[in-house]
Amino acid sequence: MHEFSTAVGIVETITNVAKENKATRIKKVELVVGEFSMLNTEQLKFAFEIAAEGTLAEKADLIIEAQKGEIDCKDCGFKGPVETQKKDVDHFVVDLVNIFECPKCKSNNTKISGGRDIYVKNIEVELGTK
Ligand SMILES: [Zn+2]
Repeated sequence: MHEFSTAVGIVETITNVAKENKATRIKKVELVVGEFSMLNTEQLKFAFEIAAEGTLAEKADLIIEAQKGEIDCKDCGFKGPVETQKKDVDHFVVDLVNIFECPKCKSNNTKISGGRDIYVKNIEVELGTK
């Protein structure tokens, strides 16, 4: 499951940062998830809860911010966001990876140029008292 390995990676990253900063607990995690990252955000939240168990990130609030997918059109040079076809609110359909239609010239000769990534934007921690 793609979401689970992603969640484990996120938990590792943030707990390392938290330890470096001598935090005792991670309270909140803000994630940016690209529309074309092929991740189901509901599954990702669930996987995060499991991956965070027993770590500093246990019970942290996970805030997911969606980043719009962008394309480059090889025919007219358009670069920018496209309307994606979604199966449901959270699950992006990415089997159609190469057939996003250019909103300007309607060409299908397009390439994905943005919105594929997932990264941690911010974390909020509780610091231990000394
Ligand atoms: Zn175009």
